[in-house]
This record gives sequence, structure tokens and C-alpha cells, in this order.
Amino acid sequence: MEIKKGIGVSPGVVISKAFVLDAEDYPIPERHVEAALHQEEKDRLGAAIQASRAELIELRGRMRDRIGEETAAIFDFHLGMLDDKRLIGEIEAAIDANHYTAEHAVSAVFRAHARKFLDMPQFMAERVKDVNDIQRRLLRNLIGQSRAALDHLTGDVILLAHDLTPSQTANLDREHILGLATDAGGRTSHTAIVAHALGIPAVVGLNDVTSSVQPGDAVIIDGNRGVVIIDPDESTIAEHQTYLQRLAERERTLVELRDLPAVTRDGHEITLLGNIEFPDEVRNVLANAGHGIGLYRTEYLFLGSEEEPTEDEHYEAYTRAIALAEGRPVVIRSLDLGADKYTQARAMSPERNPFLGLRSIRYCLQNLPIFKTQIRAILRAARTGPVSLLFPLIASVMELRQAKMIVRDVAEDLEEEGVDFEPDIPIGMMIEVPSAALMCDVFAREVDFFSIGTNDLVQYTLAVDRGNEKVASLFSAAHPAVVRLIKDVIRAGQRHDISVSLCGEMAGDPEYTLLLLGLGLRIFSIAPPAIPEIKKVIRSVTMEQAMLTARKVMTFDTDKQVTSYLRDQTRKLVGDS
Ligand code: PEP
Ligand code: MG
Repeated sequence: MEIKKGIGVSPGVVISKAFVLDAEDYPIPERHVEAALHQEEKDRLGAAIQASRAELIELRGRMRDRIGEETAAIFDFHLGMLDDKRLIGEIEAAIDANHYTAEHAVSAVFRAHARKFLDMPQFMAERVKDVNDIQRRLLRNLIGQSRAALDHLTGDVILLAHDLTPSQTANLDREHILGLATDAGGRTSHTAIVAHALGIPAVVGLNDVTSSVQPGDAVIIDGNRGVVIIDPDESTIAEHQTYLQRLAERERTLVELRDLPAVTRDGHEITLLGNIEFPDEVRNVLANAGHGIGLYRTEYLFLGSEEEPTEDEHYEAYTRAIALAEGRPVVIRSLDLGADKYTQARAMSPERNPFLGLRSIRYCLQNLPIFKTQIRAILRAARTGPVSLLFPLIASVMELRQAKMIVRDVAEDLEEEGVDFEPDIPIGMMIEVPSAALMCDVFAREVDFFSIGTNDLVQYTLAVDRGNEKVASLFSAAHPAVVRLIKDVIRAGQRHDISVSLCGEMAGDPEYTLLLLGLGLRIFSIAPPAIPEIKKVIRSVTMEQAMLTARKVMTFDTDKQVTSYLRDQTRKLVGDS
């Protein structure tokens, strides 16, 4: 038995047999053809390009229907490469000049392209994956050889792969692929995004899981805790099966909770909002009886596409989310690009410390056309429903004022142009940098609401990279320093009569619900599947119990004391959760 810790990116626990995806590339021998056959080779190439195009268009359509337009746009880069006359010209030239067969020419030209990406900084790896993915598709259409096919599974499996290409993720067979684990990947990799959207339990960033497992081995994937257990012993299997039964039972009770209000035993009403990345996820929020959208992470509009979205593309996404929310509030966060998202892959010289670099609101304030395009779309979309605007990563008052000034500028432009827009949109800020938490009283006078982002607040307060598995054990929202900051921010919100929500992962962890209620939090914004569980805790406790719990927690010196106390209290008051 071997236990591996990675990054849990899609919740759920499954036990099944391993299916290890063959990571080998096609072996293409160097073969030559005489000049008289060059045209024939070029015709074969043309036919393979056409076949690949048709497959990609079909895949794109399927992905759009299953997940949404933004994710489907991943394939636009692939289609773009197949339409790239220069690239195709290079392959044809390799046939003419070197007498290569079509497949050898494809292989040589694509390998050179992939190498160019590899010579660039490490973060270009995602693009290399795309280049290899197109190459394999073309080669398959030239050679007619089928690889370990993901779309012909007949039994239930857990898929293990070094990483998945966008085509492979689009083809994931929800019926047979019960879970997913990859060596590579982080929170925002394509694999993570798609697995989460499809509801497949997944753990990524495991480094070497594929070399530790044999096809057919029993494997447990625990997407909640980011753990993979290979070849579990009998007692571990039995333990997990009991755990699974408990989860299934709990699921049933949670379904019953769906239509009950989120209210404490002594009558305090709590608002439960959902976090989304794609407009269609609003459906998941409503299916879990969420009261609206507390965090729409709009940067996903940029991921998976070569082009910046246009104002109309922004507008279309926002109005779709607003329409699906059917009158419920939607908090749209302005772009949180940078750090590990988007900008580094395009930078000429990478930042040395991107999480402390030109990220988020800082990036927007230095790239005004991108920022203004988005704000225009948000102000226009706000005509169609109750929208609030949320600025991420605000660290200083000047930054907030500048961002608000841009909103005023954009409003003036729209007014002058006679474009319909909403001038009175509530503006809030994320509290996710310690400086903002420490100065929350000052900030509270300048915004309509706060949203506490504990993912980053923990990272920056404790100096622990949120995506680095090597320091994952040090990343804890229960650290007394973090708890104090959260308490101060909630109190400042109460003093200044502005609403405070919490939208980091902490809000969706039932072990923190008592504490957060006790600290005065009344709005939780969480991943949609976690909504019923948080509601269950809320409905099981009184506000007095929550306040006593919070008071006790404030006396602790270590995160271990906090977590063990909260675990005990939650178990005692809510039952086994
Ligand atoms: C956070 O930092 O807690 C947050 C919600 O924002 P993100 O996870 O998108 O950085
Ligand atoms: Mg954040």
C-alpha cells in the first residue's frame, strides 16, 4: 500500500481499478519517398488535416455543450494551428526538400516547435502539451493507429496519467471514469478545471503517481483531502467503504435539506452563495439551493484561449450568468490574472516571484485597456440583473481609489457614447492581503462590501505558497493569526454597516462553520457542492454555541489546538460529518 499526497481539485471519494494512460508518443521512423510521390504525401497530409479539423470541431461542440463556451475555446488554439499556413507550409517543405513521408515531416516540424516552447521558461509547458496533442491527432489520422482510447472504456476505472491534454479531458467518459489522478498539474490546470466542472473526483500534482501504479491495481482517490492510495490493504479498503457509505447517507440527508432554510436553531438567517468560474455553473449553485453567486472568477474567460476576450464576449458571459441566476445577486470579480494565471505564459521575461508580482488588480491598473474592456461589459451587464463588482488583491487605499476611478471613467465613456449601463453598481473589495485586513476600518469607509479571500489571506499571512505541496501542511486557515484577521474584518464590517462575506475554501469546510458564525459571519460563498453540508451545520447549532466556540478559539496559540477543538465541537453539536 502506498499513500500519495497531491492537490485535491475536485471533491469526492472513489475506489476502483487503475487505468494508466499510455504516455508514449508515436514512434515515427525516418522514411523517405521519391520526388514523384511528394504530391501524394502532401495529399495525405491535407486529408489528415481535414480529418483532424473535423474531429476538433466535433470535440469543441461536445465540450461546449457539456461544460460551456469558455472551456471549449481551449480547442481554438488547436484549430488555429491546423489553419496556420506557415506551419503547414513548413511541413510541405520538409516533404519536398527532404523527401520525408508526411508523418515524418509532421513529426520533425512539430518536434521543432515543441522544442521552441520548451526552451522558453517552464510555465510554457501548457502550450507544449497543446502542440503535442495536435501532433498526435495528425499522426493518428495519418497512420490510422489507435492509442489507449479513453472513449472506449467498458468498465469503471480510475484514470491515472502524467497529465491530460485538452482533447483527452474533453473526452473523459463520465460514466466509466470514476476518478482522476495526475503527476502534473495545479489548481488552475485544464485538467483541474474540467474535472471539477464534470464532478469527477480528482487529485493532481502527485509527481510520480503513474510510475507507482500498475494497470488494474486497486486505487482510492480522495479528492476532498487530495490523497491517492495505491493498492490499499484490506483494512484501508474497509475503512473507505464505510466512509463511502457514510458519504452516500449524508448525501441523502443533504438532499432532504435542499429546500430548508439556512437558519440556525435560534433563528439567525445565513446567506449561502456559490463560487463559480463559468456561467453555466450557476445551475450547480441553484441545484444546491444557493442564494446567488458570491464570487464569479472571471479570469477563466482568458484561460484556454489565445485571444483576449472582446467586450462582447465578456458581456455575453456575464449576462448568461445573470440570466441563469434568475434575479439572485451575482458578484462579479474583476480579473485576477497574474501569478499562475495567464500573464506569465505571455511575458517576455518571467517574474521572479509572480505571487508577489504584477498580479490581479495591479495587473489591471497597469493594463488599462484590458481592465476597461471588462468594466464596460460589467456595467452594461448590470442592467440585466443585480450585479456587484468586486476588486481582488487590494493592498492599499490608493489602489482601491484608482480602481474606483477607472469605473467612473468607464461610466462617463458609456454615458457619452449613449450606451445603456448601470451607474449605481455596488463596489466591494476582497480582503486577501494582510495589509487590507489590518486597515479594514479605513477600507470599510470606501466600499460597499468586503469579501474575505482566505486562500490568499492564509498564503500571504503565513508566507506559505497555496499551491506548493511541499508546504501544504503549513497552510492553515486555523492559524490564530488568520483567525484574528478574519475576526477584525468582520467586526469592521459590522461597525461600518457594510456586508462581509467569506469566499475562500475555508467557507466551504464544515469544520470552520461554527467558528465563522461565532465570529459574526453571515454570508458564506462556497463551491456549489459544499452548500448543503454547510447548511447542515448551520441548522444544527445556535448562535450562542457558535459564539462560545469562537470565544474559546480566540484563546488558543496554535492551529493544531484550533482544528482539534473545532473538530470536536462540530462532531458534538452536528454529529458525524
Ligand atoms: C481567495 O484568495 O480566497 C479567493 C477566493 O480567490 P482565489 O482563490 O480566486 O485567489
Ligand atoms: Mg485570491
